[in-house]
Amino acid sequence: MNNWQELEHKYYMPTFDRIPVTLVKGQGAKVWDDNGKEYLDFVTGIAVNSLGHCHPAVVNAVTEQVKTLIHTSNIFYTIPQLKLAELLVKHSCMDKVFFCNSGTEATEGAVKLARRYGHIHLKGAYEVITGTGSFHGRTLAMVSASGQAKFQEPYIPIPSGFVNVEYNSIEAIKAATTNITCAVMMEPIQGEGGVNLPDDDYLKKVREWCDRKGILLILDEIQTGIGRTGSLFAYEQYGVEPDIMTLAKGLASGIPIGVILAKEKASVFAQGEHGSTFGGNPVACAAGYATLKTIIDSDISLNVKLTGQYLARGLNDLKQRYNFITDIRGRGLLYAMYLNKDIAKQLVLDCLEEGLLVNKLKNNALRFMPPLIIGRDDVDKALDILDKALSDICLVQ
Ligand SMILES: *Cc1c(COP(=O)(O)O)cnc(C)c1O
Repeated sequence: MNNWQELEHKYYMPTFDRIPVTLVKGQGAKVWDDNGKEYLDFVTGIAVNSLGHCHPAVVNAVTEQVKTLIHTSNIFYTIPQLKLAELLVKHSCMDKVFFCNSGTEATEGAVKLARRYGHIHLKGAYEVITGTGSFHGRTLAMVSASGQAKFQEPYIPIPSGFVNVEYNSIEAIKAATTNITCAVMMEPIQGEGGVNLPDDDYLKKVREWCDRKGILLILDEIQTGIGRTGSLFAYEQYGVEPDIMTLAKGLASGIPIGVILAKEKASVFAQGEHGSTFGGNPVACAAGYATLKTIIDSDISLNVKLTGQYLARGLNDLKQRYNFITDIRGRGLLYAMYLNKDIAKQLVLDCLEEGLLVNKLKNNALRFMPPLIIGRDDVDKALDILDKALSDICLVQ
């Protein structure tokens, strides 16, 4: 058998801190490595495999579409993209969509859209206010948007037109708003930045401020959307509606896709002002439609809430028992466990050994993102493995 991990060292640019396992197969909440060992997946491709691995609805939709039409160009009409567009609009507060291929592309496009709005309605205003600790993607402009030095410093000089201000502070947004501000962009709950929940009334205050100033509110729901936090979109739980929203990760169960959605008033791209070769591809949109339709037509959102609460209780029980666990935070099926030492990597490896995939969010924090269809039995299994890993680490510390 090939030594895949050696091939990676030889041929792949070393940007990823990979976990030493080569995955070859997935089904539901489980994946298997190239030795046939089984794992419970609480990473799901970073909140991507919403319906679990290889869900029949997605497999069938993609298989049929691949046999029928894989790609044309956006200079033609294609049916899967229009069906998905209609479904997204009917089940959100948005009016128009534009499909692209990743989260970064969606947020980058959202910022372009906000700049067009600024040109047309705000006397050329172009600056976008974002939060410290935010993550909006990896293009040069999106590392500027993301309020984390580690993404920006390797690429200085980074594009201008963004101002990163303290997250969860309405005063910081107010102070940063000037006559060149066209939008505020934020994640309803920060994902990569640490599963950071804002105060309950923060988004409402931001919405009110944007309305008062006539600027746009962009919600990046790439991680929080598509049921992950217990409602189809997280904005529903905060009682606000954005002017522009971005989606990607969980929308197509693993087939690459991104979406910019906008209310009518913010849908200001004119012909030729934005585009994409692959965006809205029939196969990706068929996978997106199958995923979204399955979530909407089933009790998956309820499962996210109930099983999410069950997971949270289990994690909080562990916190009671291990004094080096400092915080459990999250919502729905997106949770983080904070530790008072940099032991996240060791815990990830210990869990791996016992058959559980978890994500190192920070050196001192783990993140849990099981598929939205996860059941209590699997949560129990994961908690048992985690418990054992935590108690083992106690012994060696
Ligand atoms: C993952 C993520 C992105 C970037 O998405 P990619 O598909 O990796 O480009 C942007 N914003 C948020 C909130 C994310 O979680």
